[in-house]
Amino acid sequence: METKLALITGGSRGIGRELCLKFAQKGYDIAFCYRTSDEKAQEVESEVIKTGVSCLKYKCDVRILSEVSEMVRDIFEKKQTINVLVNNAGILKVGAFAGMQKQDWEDMFETNLYGAFNLSKTCIPYLMKKKGNSIINVSSFMAIRPLGPAQAIYAASKAALIGFTRTLSKELAPAGIRVNVVAPGLIDTDMLKPIDEKTLKSMVVNTTSKRLGTPKEIADNIVYLTSDEAQFINGQTIVIDGGGVTYQF
Ligand code: NAP
Repeated sequence: METKLALITGGSRGIGRELCLKFAQKGYDIAFCYRTSDEKAQEVESEVIKTGVSCLKYKCDVRILSEVSEMVRDIFEKKQTINVLVNNAGILKVGAFAGMQKQDWEDMFETNLYGAFNLSKTCIPYLMKKKGNSIINVSSFMAIRPLGPAQAIYAASKAALIGFTRTLSKELAPAGIRVNVVAPGLIDTDMLKPIDEKTLKSMVVNTTSKRLGTPKEIADNIVYLTSDEAQFINGQTIVIDGGGVTYQF
């Protein structure tokens, strides 16, 4: 049977970690990158290898095109295929816009948006070698539903990913490559740590599920979107937010 490879950015923790494990359980070889968490990345690598597939781990900053190019070239040299790219690496800086500086804008855009640019730019030539391959970008429900103050720049960076996804899906469709974007709601990862408990509770209570989501609930849907069963889904924004339809502003 043909071996497929999934490349996941931000695979050391949270949703990215779960993605590495889930794709591995589905039989994909894994390549993932992270920026700082050496120990956690080592743990993910061990867990992936236990499932019986191979794992390439890179300390690679998605903001830096030269690092990304080197990683992608190395993956292809070693495995001769890249079938799935998940642009998952992201950062959130919480604070009212009034207190934000240009550096905050640059930090969030460089990781959340330019990171996806760098990976897409370098991976697309490899993805195009075979029809049926796909890209998933990880946006946020914040791009769609303004949930109180404190996240305007983050929301802007994640909204840009949605526009990027839609248009790229049209451009790559003739090559048989699908591009979709997921917009997770509040998911129980380190990313939520800067948000105080009271604020978090007041947000969760306005979902129909009345709880935080789990990284697994996002990973399961992303894996589905890359599967043969989802070949008719392209250019879509899939909101996975525990029923955020009831959010009140
Ligand atoms: P997380 O637990 O904070 O993990 C973030 C991951 O991204 C880590 O592996 C981190 O690596 C990596 N990363 C950050 N900057 C990077 C860079 N410059 N280069 C390479 N890797 C980098 O976050 P998460 O909650 O799993 O979030 C994953 C994605 O989901 C993000 O795009 C986030 O915006 C989105 N999202 C999350 C939520 C939520 O409620 N958690 C909601 C909506 C959307 P290190 O470990 O080395 O730092």
